[in-house]
Amino acid sequence: MFARGSILFLALLAPLTAAELRVGRALVEITPPAGMPMAGYYNIRLNEGVHDPLYAKALVLEAGETRAALVACDLIAAPWPLVEAVRRRVGERTRIPPAHVMVSATHTHTGPEMSADLVNVADQTLAIVRRYHAELPERIAEAVGRAEADLRPARAWAAKGREDSVSFIRRFLMKDGSVGWNPGKRNPDIVRPLGSIDPELPLIYFDSPQGDPLAAYVNFALHLDTVGGLQFSADYPATLAARLAAVKGEGLLTLFTLGACGNINHIDVTSSAPQRGHGEAARIGTILAGSVLRAFGELQPTEPTPLVVRSASVELPVITVSDAEVEKARQVVAAFGTPRAPSFYEQVHAFKVMAAHKQGGRALEAEVQVMALGRDIAWVALPGEVFVELGKAIKLASPFPHTVVVELANDKVGDYIPDLKAYQEGAYEVISTPLAPGGGEKLVEAAVRLLIEARGPYPPAYRR
Ligand SMILES: [Zn+2]
Repeated sequence: MFARGSILFLALLAPLTAAELRVGRALVEITPPAGMPMAGYYNIRLNEGVHDPLYAKALVLEAGETRAALVACDLIAAPWPLVEAVRRRVGERTRIPPAHVMVSATHTHTGPEMSADLVNVADQTLAIVRRYHAELPERIAEAVGRAEADLRPARAWAAKGREDSVSFIRRFLMKDGSVGWNPGKRNPDIVRPLGSIDPELPLIYFDSPQGDPLAAYVNFALHLDTVGGLQFSADYPATLAARLAAVKGEGLLTLFTLGACGNINHIDVTSSAPQRGHGEAARIGTILAGSVLRAFGELQPTEPTPLVVRSASVELPVITVSDAEVEKARQVVAAFGTPRAPSFYEQVHAFKVMAAHKQGGRALEAEVQVMALGRDIAWVALPGEVFVELGKAIKLASPFPHTVVVELANDKVGDYIPDLKAYQEGAYEVISTPLAPGGGEKLVEAAVRLLIEARGPYPPAYRR
């Protein structure tokens, strides 16, 4: 009797202290069936099993009358048709407006192929692809629905974690003056990397008013392609989530999203140590988990209201291509998967030309979305693989102390989004993207404007 009375007493007290913010979280498995093509490269690789499951992880926030959902999926990308289908379903069955849903991809290269335009592929493989793509929006929306049903009083905390030992700029100035992309370990012709990484490891943490762990939102600018092979795997975020759950308990859901890392990967060219496979993914995930756990000791309580969501549509101009270039690209694409397969850069360039041709001179629409929680925390969603310089520019100009830049969110426009400097240098990402120079800077401008709007006016400054 005494215990039951105490619980009732606590339940009456709890709303007084924690009614302002409610948080719900859920995960739904999205591992495709065997035989599904794997994502990430320019050739078809059929899956041969599962190393670790793939998930859609959803976090729903509610402050006052406003609800929003942040979703992290173990996928190479979240293309617009997928995002649109998820948002429509969420709008139909929850109290979360479609525009308040952020769907991002971790960019695992050991996940399913997301393109429906596959050439030289068997009919039975195409059938697997079509069925999976048709079911996926439903599963992701289900994660959001379950997270909404899980809403409960919560506190929000934030810390600035840091890790500078596992991510590396992958573009280098070479001795002959050219720009090398992934030029190889211990390459004696490397002069220096062209740029610097973003070591920030933001941690946004939610717990119950009694201190029970609910969710950790972790973001880091490091491309996911450490595993390889033909088995599905979420790559290093799987280890990160497992290590945090081992410390904080299974009640903690870890959502991992990518920072702006279009020109960053995990290859340390100064060492000759091999860096491929599940061991490497576990190594990186463990190091990141250690840094996140260190950041747990620095968590600061944050003001959890209001919740503000803003978005803007930005037009990104596309390069123009000649008829001759298109014809050449068609021939290259037709040779995919055949013995006379074209070289890597020929394939990359052909994809770019076909993508630009498809646009027919029209700009690509890009959505920039900002979610702000109180005056301390903001998320910025950008739709592509964004160069780190652009992500750092947003964080530097943001009025929020904790700004989380999420790439590959709500679409993948042009795949790579380089900064102006990189267009002068050339190399892989620039050869690959159909976007004309300056698009990335337009995204930064839109993001900063939305962040300033979302924060609202500052209190009057002190005057003598
Ligand atoms: Zn990639």
